[in-house]
Order: sequence, then structure tokens, then C-alpha cells
Amino acid sequence: MNLNMLLSKSEKRISQLNPIVANKTRELIRKSYAEGINILITQGMRTFEEQAELYARGRTKSGTIVTNAKAGYSFHNYGLAIDFCLLADDGVNVLWTVNDKWRRVAEIGKSLGFVWGGDWKGFVDYPHLEMTFGLTINDLLNGKQPPVELEDDIPMLDKGVAQTIINTWISPAWYNTEDQEQKKYLNWLANQLRLASGMKVE
Ligand SMILES: [Zn+2]
Repeated sequence: MNLNMLLSKSEKRISQLNPIVANKTRELIRKSYAEGINILITQGMRTFEEQAELYARGRTKSGTIVTNAKAGYSFHNYGLAIDFCLLADDGVNVLWTVNDKWRRVAEIGKSLGFVWGGDWKGFVDYPHLEMTFGLTINDLLNGKQPPVELEDDIPMLDKGVAQTIINTWISPAWYNTEDQEQKKYLNWLANQLRLASGMKVE
């Protein structure tokens, strides 16, 4: 499984997160991958309605209790939390065993600024990582906004995405044309993508 494919499996969930959390999540996937650990993001943004439905499980609805958080009381409800699991080498099966690899992902997450639910006392939540920006749930319920500004060192466009666009479409087009103006234009396009994703221009 290559990194871009791995990232794309989680991108739909990641894209709904707070932009800073989204980039940190992509970084988590990349750093874990670099250590030979493939992960999948299984939960991201959760609406208040979805949270209420989840809270009802094992209480007013059948099933076992899966959360202690009512609607509005989970960092998922503000796009500030993710749940992950391990992805098997076949790229399809998911693994929920909290083993050394799982704990390593949590460590990487913590190094990126996430709080890990596996460290909680009482209701331990191993798949859960959240980034609070110093805000409490009460702050968020009172309308305080988490930052959305991207930090200087986080590029707007993911490097892997930019490289894929360059390799798959722009480079072949560059090789397929004899028109020097067109070549220059394609080179400019590729460099725009490189700049937006924090790479050096070529
Ligand atoms: Zn969670």
C-alpha cells in the first residue's frame, strides 16, 4: 500500500475536521506509515444529532454504551477529534487490537499535540485522539472558536497530493508536448503546487 492510497482512504473524514487538526491527522498517518504502521481514521467530525444517537445506545436504545458524551460534549462535535484503528497489510481488514503498534501511533499523536483517550482514567477510549487548543467543552458550548489559522509550518496543500497531481497529470503532459510555451506553463503549474505544499520549486 503506498502512502497516497493510504491517505485517500481517510481523506473524506479528515476533510471535515478543523483545518489544523486535519493537517495534524495527515501527519499522523504519514509518520506512522514511515514506521511501517498503516492506520485508518474511522471517525472525525460528528454532528450533535449523531452524538445524541450514539449516546442513546445502551441507554434509551439497545446495544452497549459506547460514549459518555451527550450531544455537544464530545470534541468530535467540533471537528477536533479523531478515532483511528490499525489497517492490516491487505489494506482492507481493520485491526482493533491495542498492541505495540497501536500504542506507538498514540505516542506519535501525542507528539503532534493530540490528547489520547487511552490515557484516560475511567472511560478509556483507545481509538480516540483529540486536540483541544486549551479550550474546554464548556468554552465550545459557549461559542468560543478553536483557531482555524494554519500554522506557518503547515502547508495548505498536502505534499503527497501535490506530488500525485504532478506525477500523474502534469509531467506526462509536459513530455507529450513540443510546444515550449506549453512546457513553460506546465512547469509553472507544477511549481505552484510545489509552493502550496511547502516543496522547493524545480
Ligand atoms: Zn473518539
